[in-house]
Amino acid sequence: MGGTYKCARCKQKVELDDHVRCPFCGHRILFKERGAAIKVLKAE
Ligand SMILES: [Zn+2]
Repeated sequence: MGGTYKCARCKQKVELDDHVRCPFCGHRILFKERGAAIKVLKAE
């Protein structure tokens, strides 16, 4: 994994490595920012 995502809640840019979680607010739904496709990642 990896890349730049945007938090669905606080809209901060998030660099992911091995887990899906916003470091700013702790939210777990992130949108992939690059390209046209928007991918929602949801961690259990
Ligand atoms: Zn956030």
